[in-house]
Amino acid sequence: MAKLLEGKTIALKIQEGIRQEVRSLGFTPVLAGIITGENSASETYVESQRKIAKGLGIDYQLHKMKADIPEEELVAFIEKLNADKLVNGIIVLMPLAPRIDRKKVIRSISPDKDAEGIHPANIGRVLLGKARIVPCTASAVMELLGYTGIGLYGKEVVVVGWSEIVGKPVACLLLEKLATVSICHIGTSEAGDLEEYVRRAEVLVVAVGKAGLIKGEWIKQGAVVIDVGINRIGGKLVGDVDFEKAQERASYITPVPGGVGPLTVTMLMRNLVESARFQGKLQG
Ligand code: NAD
Repeated sequence: MAKLLEGKTIALKIQEGIRQEVRSLGFTPVLAGIITGENSASETYVESQRKIAKGLGIDYQLHKMKADIPEEELVAFIEKLNADKLVNGIIVLMPLAPRIDRKKVIRSISPDKDAEGIHPANIGRVLLGKARIVPCTASAVMELLGYTGIGLYGKEVVVVGWSEIVGKPVACLLLEKLATVSICHIGTSEAGDLEEYVRRAEVLVVAVGKAGLIKGEWIKQGAVVIDVGINRIGGKLVGDVDFEKAQERASYITPVPGGVGPLTVTMLMRNLVESARFQGKLQG
């Protein structure tokens, strides 16, 4: 039976280190959150960010904008925060109104203040193996893998999903560890090859958003399974992996909820503190 990789417990340990980092900065780092319109999911997420930030000694400043804010106004506001020496990191809560170009908004955040690590410059640095700020969910996955203590060198790893903020950066970070990485996606499924890839994975990372996509019997005996997917089925949250059967075969597995999710916010705070340290150095 697999050991559970409980994100919350691991997050609490990492938070202890972040708290010490914050103390050593010599100033209170500031994270600016921007929320547009009313969205209960975003508001819940903001509340959890705010609570964790407070516990770490980070000042979380929330800016509430109207839902119909023009794109130029939102970008101008972000540029003001970019120039504000007292602000160390910026996060724009999604979703934005459909008429707003999400990519343009993300590009307007200074890469040095990009707490989520989703600016193209930061994602590009992940590809080059030179990232200071890593997309939060990708670094949460790497933390969970690190926690298992398994060496990734030469391991057969399969990543399912190739999104810019999860699948692709996770695959790059795994390559840096010299794992043998296969990236699967909708094309792999439609070609009928997904099962074959998953069956040989010693480490499996799934980030798709389809409940039950990965059958429990596909999991290799002793594999490490990281399920990033979040799906709401009949009021209950589940991942992409058939958890009950998979846990009988895996050595480690993340539950959903309670696996990757709780670590993601902690990684956001770690990015923020890293940005604050860098900016502190620049200002002498
Ligand atoms: P996305 O929604 O941008 O893309 C989905 C990916 O899945 C694509 O690469 C697509 O090719 C692949 N895919 C779709 N159908 C497939 C199939 N049948 N077989 C194989 N691959 C298939 O991806 P995302 O933004 O990385 O989100 C993926 C999931 O992870 C979602 O459920 C999302 O809610 C969740 N997520 C969780 C966290 C967290 O902190 N826990 C963070 C980000 C995303």
